[in-house]
Amino acid sequence: MSTQPEIKYCTYCDATIRGRSDKKFCNDACRNAYHNEMNKESSTVVHRINRNLKHNRKILSGFLTPVQETIEIRRDILLLSGFNFMYFTHTMVSDGIQYHFCYDVGYQIVSDEKVSIVVDKTIVH
Ligand SMILES: [Zn+2]
Repeated sequence: MSTQPEIKYCTYCDATIRGRSDKKFCNDACRNAYHNEMNKESSTVVHRINRNLKHNRKILSGFLTPVQETIEIRRDILLLSGFNFMYFTHTMVSDGIQYHFCYDVGYQIVSDEKVSIVVDKTIVH
């Protein structure tokens, strides 16, 4: 078992938060942006979809580590984690293989039962 401290993510941008464990945002800009979005009635649908996308991204990246940037896992494990296959930001075809991305983290369907999670390294962090 790992003894690493619990990793927290910014409620707005999903960046990893360092420091106090009760922090919800990585900085004031994220806090303000989050509250501005919450206050905009018209953004409710967009906001909900963004949340699903960010949620998906978080689940996908949760299976990866800094040293393991791709991993093959069972599709049902992804579903059990709460992943929603309906939501992705874009698709990409590379060497004839189609990838579905949630921002910079995506997956490739390997078989009926398995998917391979990948990171798009062409996106600069
Ligand atoms: Zn943030």
